[in-house]
Amino acid sequence: MNFATLLFLTKYSIAKRGAIRDFKQALKNQYLPPKDLASLNWEKTKKLIYYAYEHVPYYRNLFNEIGINPEDIREPKDFEKIPILRREDIIENYELFFSDEVKMEKMKTSTTGGSTGIPLKIAMSPQENREIKKWQMLQWWGLDPNVDMASLYRGVPVSGLKKIVLSIINWPQKVIRFDATNMHKENIKAFIAEVIQNKPKLIHGYVGAVDAVADYILEHNIKMPSPETIWLTAAPVTKIQEAKITKAFNAPVCDQYGCSELYFISAECTKKEGLHVFEDSIKLEFVDDYDQAVPKGEYGNIVFTNLEEYGFPLIRYMNGDRGRYLDRQCSCGMSLPLIDKVKGRVSDNIVLPRGEIISGEYLTTIFDDFTDAVKQFQVIQRVDSSIDINIVFSDKEQERHISNYVMNEFNERVQGQVPIRINAIKNIESINGKLKFIIREERTNNNVEKFNKKLDI
Ligand SMILES: [Zn+2]
Repeated sequence: MNFATLLFLTKYSIAKRGAIRDFKQALKNQYLPPKDLASLNWEKTKKLIYYAYEHVPYYRNLFNEIGINPEDIREPKDFEKIPILRREDIIENYELFFSDEVKMEKMKTSTTGGSTGIPLKIAMSPQENREIKKWQMLQWWGLDPNVDMASLYRGVPVSGLKKIVLSIINWPQKVIRFDATNMHKENIKAFIAEVIQNKPKLIHGYVGAVDAVADYILEHNIKMPSPETIWLTAAPVTKIQEAKITKAFNAPVCDQYGCSELYFISAECTKKEGLHVFEDSIKLEFVDDYDQAVPKGEYGNIVFTNLEEYGFPLIRYMNGDRGRYLDRQCSCGMSLPLIDKVKGRVSDNIVLPRGEIISGEYLTTIFDDFTDAVKQFQVIQRVDSSIDINIVFSDKEQERHISNYVMNEFNERVQGQVPIRINAIKNIESINGKLKFIIREERTNNNVEKFNKKLDI
C-alpha cells in the first residue's frame, strides 16, 4: 500500500470507524473455501433475522402473523419461510422498517422511480461501509481505492463551494465529475477534453452516458488515453455496447450490478467469466413467479438481503430484476459465486396476444453477432401489441442483411400474431443516462408515451 492510499484510507476511517479493518477482512473472505463462505453467510443471516425480530416492528408483526419465530429458521432452507418482500410492502409500511435502536433522522435515504412509476424510498444506516465493496472491486482490477477517476453519474456537485470541499476531502485523489443526466454534445466534448488532459486510470459511469461518449469518440476519430478499466453500472450492458466502448477507449469494461436499494451486489473481475457476488455480506437468491427457488443456472427473479444493514433491514427483497447463478467457479481463484450478466427488468418482456412471452433475456442478445454493424437498438411493444424494432446502424452496408435476419427471427416467434416493423433510425436517446432496450407501452403509462415522442424516428 503506497502513502497516498494509506492517507486516503486513514482519512476515511476517521469518518467511518473500522473501514480499513473491514476492507482487509473482505479481501480475505473472497478466498475462503466455498463451504466456509456459505457458513459465514448463514451465520450473518441468522444474526440479522434475530435482530429484526427483536428490534424492527415490520418483521416482528410479520413473523407473529405467519406464526414463526427466529428459532424456526435453523438451516438455510428454512430461510424460505420468510415471505418475499416487495416494493409495495415497503411503500405501505415505510416507518415500520426502522430499527427501534436508530434515530430516523440520522439515517440516509435513497429514492428510486423504478419501472412502475411509484417512487420507493428506503433508508440506510450512515455507518455502513458501502465503499468497501467498491474498493474490493477496484482491487480485482489492480486499482487503489483512491485511484484517479472520471465519473459520469447523476446528481454530482460539479461547481462552486461543493466542488472545492469535495476535492479537499478527496486529495490527493483526482476525480473528474460530470452529470450523466445532462449528456449533450458540449458536455460530452468537455468530458473528453478533461479525460485527455488528466488521463484518469478509471472511467466510471452509467452505461448510457459512457455509450454516448464512446459514440462521439468513434465518430470524431479521437485518440483517447487508455484508462485501466471502464466501470459501468446502473443498466444491463449489451455485447454491442461493450465492444464499442472497449474500442473507443481501448480498455476493458467492468460490468457491475446493483440498484438504488443496494449499490453493490456483484461485479466482474478481470477474467470476466461472470459477476462475483459479495457473498460475505449479501444473501442473493433467484426465485420463480411463485416465489420458489429456481435451480442453479436457471433464470429467476432477483431476491436479496443485505446482511450488514441493521437500521432498515430488507430481508428477501425482490427488486424487479432477473438473473441467474452460474454453475461454475471463476478461474481467478476467488470463491465468491458467479452470476450471469443481469439482463433487465421483469417488465422488459414482450407479451403476445396468445399469451406467449418473448423474454427480455432473449431480446437483449438478438444483435450479439452484429457488434460491428449495429450501434444501438430498442424493441418497443405498442399499445396495440405490434412491435417496433428500432436500429441505429453503424455499417449501412449490412442494414438489409441484418434487418432480414432480425425479421426472420421475430417472425418465427411471433407467428403472425402481431405486425413487426423494423426501423433504421439515427439515434436513440437515453433518459437520465440510462438506455432502455425493451419498452412495453401501457395505456396508463404516460412516461413511456412521452419517451417515445422523443425518439428520433
Ligand atoms: Zn473472478
